[in-house]
Amino acid sequence: ADMPVVVSMLNSYSGWAAAGIGFTIGNLLLIVTGSLVGASGAILSYIMCKGMNRSIINVLLGGFGTDGGAAVAGPGAADRAPVKAGSPEDAAFIMKNAQKIIVVPGYGMAVAQAQQVVREMADLLKKEGAEVSYAIHPVAGRMPGHMNVLLAEANVPYDEVKELEEINPEFADADVAYVIGANDVTNPAAKTDKSSAIYGMPILDVERAKTVFFVKRGMASGYAGVDNELFFRPNTMMLFGDAKKVTQEIVQSLQR
Ligand code: NDP
Repeated sequence: ADMPVVVSMLNSYSGWAAAGIGFTIGNLLLIVTGSLVGASGAILSYIMCKGMNRSIINVLLGGFGTDGGAAVAGPGAADRAPVKAGSPEDAAFIMKNAQKIIVVPGYGMAVAQAQQVVREMADLLKKEGAEVSYAIHPVAGRMPGHMNVLLAEANVPYDEVKELEEINPEFADADVAYVIGANDVTNPAAKTDKSSAIYGMPILDVERAKTVFFVKRGMASGYAGVDNELFFRPNTMMLFGDAKKVTQEIVQSLQR
């Protein structure tokens, strides 16, 4: 997860360099545009570091002298005791009987372009009397605000979209956490495993919900390459498949 921060820092440097040249040759336009690029790159880097609970120095220098081993998924978790896999019909049945549902979108929802069908699912669940909200982690997806943009595109009402600090206490009351294409942002290793690459990053406490659905294609780890032990918890049900296809099938089951 450090690489986009480094890229954005380099982008910022290029802006400051352009501004510096602007000063040297007395070109006001170059000074202004260079400063804008420099400042926006620096602000973006700061937001991403804050979302990961890391300092910029740690991100820039943290990789030196290590082989990056902590970030590589070991074979262990994938070989662990069987996971509970369910079907979209199972998920639809459980959600139809739920009172409070929290949708947790991540990078996989963006890849699958599933935001529209997620909203359709939420609309049907609301018709059944459930309360639906969306939990947004600051670094879910691949850029700050990624999930907010997708949900806005699908016309999800703003008041249903909640930031991490606001939604985390609500998981304990939730019947269902519908985690669609998110992984690292839910990984409790960030709280418990000091050797983990994501240690210290604030996460969404999805495991506190009564039932957690993980919609993803397989057992692969997320961007940080860290195994997620939540897949093996008794209150977790894996819904394997493409995020859009699985959610479409849930919508069809809810309509029956
Ligand atoms: P992750 O990268 O942790 O996980 C995404 C998951 O989506 C994968 O495990 C993958 O599993 C699944 N997936 C991919 N394609 C599909 C699909 N078509 N259908 C269903 N599932 C799919 O995403 P998160 O959003 O949880 O976390 C973001 C990560 O990106 C964090 O580590 C963060 O630090 C990093 N990052 C974020 C930045 C930001 O500003 N937002 C910037 C830089 C880094 P599978 O392959 O099994 O389907």
